[in-house]
Amino acid sequence: MENNAVYDVVIVGGGPAGLAAGLYCQRAAVRTVLFEKGLIGGQIAISKEVENYPGIEGITGFDLAEKLLHHAKGFGLQIVQEEVVSIQVGRDLHSVQLANGDLYRTTALILAAGGSVRKLGIPGEAEYLGSGVSYCATCDGFFFRDKTVVVVGGGDTAAEEAVYLSKLAKKVYLVHRRDSLRAKMVLQNRLRAEPRIEPVWNTVVRTIEGNGREVERVMIENSISGEMKSLAAEGVFIFIGYDPNRVVVPPEVRTNELGFVVTDEKCETNVPGIFASGDLRQKFANQIVIAAGDGAVAALAASRYVESRKTRKTIP
Ligand SMILES: Cc1cc2nc3c(=O)[nH]c(=O)nc-3n(C[C@H](O)[C@H](O)[C@H](O)COP(=O)(O)OP(=O)(O)OC[C@H]3O[C@@H](n4cnc5c(N)ncnc54)[C@H](O)[C@@H]3O)c2cc1C
Repeated sequence: MENNAVYDVVIVGGGPAGLAAGLYCQRAAVRTVLFEKGLIGGQIAISKEVENYPGIEGITGFDLAEKLLHHAKGFGLQIVQEEVVSIQVGRDLHSVQLANGDLYRTTALILAAGGSVRKLGIPGEAEYLGSGVSYCATCDGFFFRDKTVVVVGGGDTAAEEAVYLSKLAKKVYLVHRRDSLRAKMVLQNRLRAEPRIEPVWNTVVRTIEGNGREVERVMIENSISGEMKSLAAEGVFIFIGYDPNRVVVPPEVRTNELGFVVTDEKCETNVPGIFASGDLRQKFANQIVIAAGDGAVAALAASRYVESRKTRKTIP
């Protein structure tokens, strides 16, 4: 077991939110450590092309992750490659338990553990990720101008994203396993008004196929008749759910019904000294620039919290 090391700020997660928070904490001169269990850069490390990060016109996700890491490390951020398995809320110090048994204690915590898209788990999905398969229309829709795409899902996100894609693509097939959508009626009406969207009911996508470089078609199965069919498409957008990485969220921290952390405008939770930023936080949209902005806000607020605790301790 580690030494009970005490920090001013512990950051959980090394995606855009965590790395931006780390950079801001270092600049505020608070003693900070960041824990990352997997790839530094988070979800962007697996995204092929990023075209919407302001100031950078086009970059691979991997290269952007490298830049964020390099920038934060340049300010001296300490990064430990370890998984956080639990967090105990304390009165003065919160405790952070790592998978290797080490225990750290900290005045403030920034939860930046992000989330994970739900996958179909079908052949071709992983192979063509970034080459036709996407989980984000805002990120990748632009690459499918005047092309045919398949949207998979039946909830609000699938409906919203199908409408968004219909402004870019020449044809959008909305494939849903039931005979009606779960999406709100207002979204369903918007969807019906789009001539480029064609719903394909009672249908599941079985495989995503292509030429090894890009997607060319999906094989779909009618769940009532069992009939298999090929649907030609260059893009497949999958919206069947997105889960927050909530393992790191202590039970005392308020979350919404889907498990996303509820914060105020300073990214502070209902527990003093615990902040949340990026995709883990309940908010309107999940994007890199938003996660990075959140990280900056959380770090500024956490630094101020740390200073206020120190000042309080020194007052006789
Ligand atoms: C394929 C794909 C393409 C995308 N393309 C774009 C795009 O082009 N433009 C755009 O703006 N957005 C894009 N997005 C969305 C964007 O990537 C996310 O909004 C952003 O990464 C969220 O950042 P984050 O730091 O909040 O979370 P994440 O990126 O999810 O990072 C969280 C990090 O926390 C780590 N972590 C989780 N639990 C623990 C734990 N217990 N202990 C330690 N570490 C932990 C994870 O390993 C991960 O590295 C894309 C997303 C995907 C999946």
